[in-house]
Amino acid sequence: MPELPEVETVRRGLEPVMTGQTITTAAVNRPDLRWPFPPRMAERLTGAQVLGLRRRSKYILADLSTGESLLIHLGMSGRILISGAMQGDFYHDHPAPAKHDHVVMTLGNGARITFNDARRFGAMDLLDTALGDDHPLLAKIGPEPFGNSFNETYLTERLKGRATPIKSALLDQQTVAGLGNIYVCEVLYRAGLHPARPAGELPQKVVAGLVPLIQEVLAEAIEAGGSSLRDYRQADGELGYFQHRFRTYGREGEPCTTPGCTATIGRIVQSGRSSFFCPACQR
Ligand SMILES: [Zn+2]
Repeated sequence: MPELPEVETVRRGLEPVMTGQTITTAAVNRPDLRWPFPPRMAERLTGAQVLGLRRRSKYILADLSTGESLLIHLGMSGRILISGAMQGDFYHDHPAPAKHDHVVMTLGNGARITFNDARRFGAMDLLDTALGDDHPLLAKIGPEPFGNSFNETYLTERLKGRATPIKSALLDQQTVAGLGNIYVCEVLYRAGLHPARPAGELPQKVVAGLVPLIQEVLAEAIEAGGSSLRDYRQADGELGYFQHRFRTYGREGEPCTTPGCTATIGRIVQSGRSSFFCPACQR
């Protein structure tokens, strides 16, 4: 499943292609993905100019000249493919019309943007840009990990008195936006924290240290072009897998990579999700 770094990678790939461009045609090939598309979606997109692309948690928001924003969520298997000729630059040929190409837009520069989603857990909606984060999908999301409001004071207050395991507390999207299972495992490994430690019992110094660690782990992954366990098509139209080496995630039974540590990575299940950790390094 695409996590925040993958979504940010897609946003960065789309930004130079879409920003400033007018959507010349829009085809919506089915009535829904995870939820129904908004009424007259193709009509509302056609002729709109893309003013810019933002990301909120794992949602991409394309702000349009019509006062609406196109919200895109990749879900489990959603991909965005860029194809077509663009101002002399050649993006690779689009493959033959694919069964799972659900929304296709062409832009004034000749680029074609395709939303392809085999499992259809993705979503698209059009929302009033002026509403900002009041959209039901966005309203309950916590602060952005790179935003000013995600800081030591905030996180301390958020975790105070909570008996819930730190793993679950950090996975909670109201604690911090967009942090998923893979990256929480990496953060806790780097922090030397056992995933089952009650969130409210952590010393102040440890909580303070989590803020930069979360930012570091996510920034590294964004830098690496995102990561995914699934076949993933990058926003520049390339087919490929993100090769990202995790220190804990998916490494059960393999040696811990901390110098001097002879333990092997263990796995426990918390709230139905696997937590990978080093039983020696993480306490
Ligand atoms: Zn270790």
